[in-house]
Parts: sequence; structure tokens; C-alpha cells
Amino acid sequence: MQKILFLEPIFQSRIWGGTKLRDSFNYNIPNDLTGECWAISAHKNGDCTIINGPLEGKKLSVVYRDNRELFNDCESATFPLLTKILDANDDLSIQVHPDDEYAMKNENDLGKTECWYILDCQENAEIVFGHHAKTKEELVKLIANNEWDQLLKRVKVEPGDFFYVPSGTIHALCKGLLVLETQQSSDTTYRVYDYNRKDASGNTRQLHVNQAIEVTNVPHVDYLYNREVVKFDHAMITTYVKSDFFTVEKWQVEGSLNTKYNHKFLLVSVLKGEGHFLGEPIKKGDHFIVTSINDKIHCQGNFELMVSYL
Ligand code: ZN
Repeated sequence: MQKILFLEPIFQSRIWGGTKLRDSFNYNIPNDLTGECWAISAHKNGDCTIINGPLEGKKLSVVYRDNRELFNDCESATFPLLTKILDANDDLSIQVHPDDEYAMKNENDLGKTECWYILDCQENAEIVFGHHAKTKEELVKLIANNEWDQLLKRVKVEPGDFFYVPSGTIHALCKGLLVLETQQSSDTTYRVYDYNRKDASGNTRQLHVNQAIEVTNVPHVDYLYNREVVKFDHAMITTYVKSDFFTVEKWQVEGSLNTKYNHKFLLVSVLKGEGHFLGEPIKKGDHFIVTSINDKIHCQGNFELMVSYL
């Protein structure tokens, strides 16, 4: 049985995309408006292919369906998580995602709780994170009157910052950010405002103001989390969030790391450096799943990983 599934990323063009996925990660991107790298995904809008071992050539959704033992018989009907790298070369639309209940009922999709690790950013970069409305009525009024400055909460960011974005949170990445996103496997976004932008053909993008108002949490509550750091001889593991939807950690290894493994399966993205993981060579820009058949992890080299699991 296969211990590691390496995946071929899928790239998505976006009006706000750029070239950083090529400049920083050396990916072969389709054009200069590439906004998203779907690095570990079995979603129907971007289903990654396995590129190593006996399962080479198969889609992750098919392997998840037919080889559930590799995922410790995970109960989720569809592969539950999705890892992306986002190049926000311009502002993203102001948006909000529904929770599982609303998304299942209205979109036949999972809800979307997501989180961001800032890989890199320009000076004074910021995000939109939450809003100032105290009641739904105030939210409706500020949106109807286009009073975006009064409505939206903005936060300055720096490389290494981490943000947990539960469903129902109004948010947007702004210009000049390179972000690793861990999220529920969902592609349902309700756009509140898109800066009245037009694409190359002169069309504006669809807004979903009514749905957005329905699903937005009022008032906004900042999610507080305590980072946990565990130090090993030659490594450090930082846990950013442990939620009902996922746990996200950064592993910094300088030398070697041996650790016990008691999760269903791991999603791993190599952010920096190179080395070996369970004997397989890994380097910056690789993405893989560690299946449930391992009970110990050993890796060595000099690298930084973003790791997520249920
Ligand atoms: Zn989002």
C-alpha cells in the first residue's frame, strides 16, 4: 500500500491573479493571470492527479472513493480538505462563505471554513477581515449604500501571520499577498462587492448580496487562538489552529525529525527547502498526502512544511 501520494497541482486563472506561482514556486502556470494553485484537491472543480507509485495517473477523488483504507476509512462522503496557494496580485472580491448546513441545502457543496498562512507580501499589505456592523439591519444598510469604508474591517499583515476564517466571516485578500490556504473542500463563494471591476470582455462578475447577507455572522467576532509550539532536537512544530474542520501546523526541520503519527491522514505542502520524508525526496513546491498506513514519521533535511489533518 502506498505511504505517500504526490499530487499534480491544478492552476486557475483569476482576474486578480499574477505570476508569483511561477516566480516563487517555479510552477508551469498557464498565463500571467494565474491566481490559484489547487495543490491538494479532490473537488469536482479541480481534481488533482496522483503522480507516483501504483496509484499514479488516478484522480484523488477516485482514490479516496476506492481506497478508503488509505484514509483510515474516513467517514466524510467526499475528500474533506483542500490546500491552495493564492497569488493575490490585485484585490480579491469582498466575500463570505456559507456553513455546511446552508451550503448543503442550497449549493450541494460543503460549507467553507478556511485559514491563511501569509507566505509573502508587499509592504503595508492588508486583508479585509470582518466588519463593523452591529446588527443585520446595519449590515444591509451599509451594503446598500456602498459604504465599504464604514463597513469593512482591515488588518495589516506580515509574512508568517496566520488567520482562521470561519464560515460566515466577511473577508478578502488584498493586493500583494502570497498565501497558503487550508480549507474545507468547497467552492461556494458569495461575493458582496467586487470594486465594480470588469474583465477583459467588459463584464462584471456576479454578486450574491442576498445570500451573503443571510450567511454573514453579525456582529463579527475575532477568532482567538493560542499558538502551541513543540520543540524537538532539530525541529519545531507550531500548531496554528485546531478546529472542528481541521488542524493546521508548520513543521520546521533542520536535521531530522522522528515523531509518532496518530491521525487519519496528513496533507503536506513543502514551503521551503528540501530533504526526505519517509524516504521520499521532497522539495519546495511539492504537495503530498501521507496515508493512514504509517504509524511513525521520519524525515530529514532542511525544510518547512505546512501540514493539515482532520
Ligand atoms: Zn474565501
